[in-house]
Amino acid sequence: MKHIFVTGGVVSSLGKGLTSGALGALLECHGLRVELQKFDPYLNLDPGTMSPLQHGEVYVLDDGTETDLDLGHYERFTHAILSRENSLTAGRIYESVLQKERNGDYLGQTVQVIPHITDEIKSHLRRVDTGADLCITEIGGTIGDIESLPFLEALRQFALEEGRENVLFMHLTLLLYLRSAEELKTKPTQQSVAKLREIGIQPDILVCRTEQPITPTIRQKISLFCNVPPQAVVEERDLQHSIYELPHVLHQEKLDALVLQHLQLAPRECHIEVWEKISQQIQQTKPIYHIGLIGKYISCKDAYKSIYEALAHAGIALSCSVKAVAIDSETLLSEKDCHEQLRTLDGILTPGGFGTRGIEGKILAANYAREHAIPYFGICLGMQVAAIAFARNVLQWPHANSTEFDPQTPHPIICRMAGQKDTDVKGGSMHLGAITCHLSAGTLSQKAYGKNYISERHRHRYEFNSTFEEEFQKHGMVITGRCLDNHAIEILEIPAHPWYVAVQFHPEFLSKPWQAHPLFRSFLQAASHHGHAND
Ligand code: GLN
Repeated sequence: MKHIFVTGGVVSSLGKGLTSGALGALLECHGLRVELQKFDPYLNLDPGTMSPLQHGEVYVLDDGTETDLDLGHYERFTHAILSRENSLTAGRIYESVLQKERNGDYLGQTVQVIPHITDEIKSHLRRVDTGADLCITEIGGTIGDIESLPFLEALRQFALEEGRENVLFMHLTLLLYLRSAEELKTKPTQQSVAKLREIGIQPDILVCRTEQPITPTIRQKISLFCNVPPQAVVEERDLQHSIYELPHVLHQEKLDALVLQHLQLAPRECHIEVWEKISQQIQQTKPIYHIGLIGKYISCKDAYKSIYEALAHAGIALSCSVKAVAIDSETLLSEKDCHEQLRTLDGILTPGGFGTRGIEGKILAANYAREHAIPYFGICLGMQVAAIAFARNVLQWPHANSTEFDPQTPHPIICRMAGQKDTDVKGGSMHLGAITCHLSAGTLSQKAYGKNYISERHRHRYEFNSTFEEEFQKHGMVITGRCLDNHAIEILEIPAHPWYVAVQFHPEFLSKPWQAHPLFRSFLQAASHHGHAND
């Protein structure tokens, strides 16, 4: 297997994850099987316990691994099916080395960063060889960070052992545009490459993020100072419309040809039609629908990354644009607030979340959507608040709640799952990963999916309390999806409403730009009808 290592320089948030995913997509267009993984240099075992405000959303894989949101980009751009092996943190590396030390596996040696930590990283790289043609590994952080040094040292050793024709170093960097000088500045790029070369890594390709086109003079300059051929200086200009233009843009910049050439892979026919079509589709002008996103981390777009992407995919599928309107649930304190902020929306979506802050606003929004026939899509916590709102307002149980927010509630509509009762451990202890769910025939969900059994990913501790099942069904909120194994309640719908679907799982993790998730697509369709009705 050939390896591509993606590093980043100058600043963070350059889009290493996106570029890695888009490169993966592009190489798949050449008929190659691509594996993708991320190395994160922090000491947490996984991002599961980190605040979304610091780290963005926690992306969950089929096998239940809680990972960095970049793995979401990998899965959205490619066909790779990722698992725990595709997400590695320094914390996990240290954990396994310390375990070996306790087992006496090092036979009396002093355990050190080099060779023990670096060996562990290299053995992980060799383990990931599952028969794919290529593996793209993104290294989190920015060149110059102390904590990424052991990873870079391991990659340097790995390239020496595997041969340079089998390993490609791609460095993503920023070209700074100085408005006052009306000039692109290359010095920060030169310095970050110098930092890499100091460690013994010579990048083979430089991908330059830039807001202005790279002139031949600038290209020559970068080439000379960074020791890469001019044709290996690739321009990655800010995208105009959508991140899904990136595979097509990088193809035009000949990044795929450069990679194949360096790794001595025979040129193949490139079938990029799918991405060309998506690019064209994105550039057309289309009707815009406004979807309210009710959350408490609205200042941080990354906290709901997959939700925004899944909405965009639905837009691509239905040839319309989605404008997500982030609404802080803490500002929804009354029916009047809801009326002011939600009245003109074409659809309302409440995503997952934890903790009491902002919860009453979410309950009010779910109720407002029900009463005003606005399409409502509740996801995980968004499902739980829909059930609470129904119990309070239709069943007339004013103190109905989840035991997460009110342990003493007389009507615990949402309660802790059986398997979750006695755990106090925070990390990796939720109900996680893909589960098969059965859909009832003829329901909105079943029609949207077009099948009776689905597999969806989970991340929660609480669930709908089946004691209240009958009361809900009798009054018009019906159960349309259940977990195949234990019959836990997975989907609630209100058939008398134009579109009111609340799901315990996270459909946003399974949506792709070329294949929008059926529920997001169906929700946006309903929102478009609602929008037209309002015109
Ligand atoms: N806090 C809720 C629970 O643990 C919902 C979790 C979520 O939305 N991901 O069940």
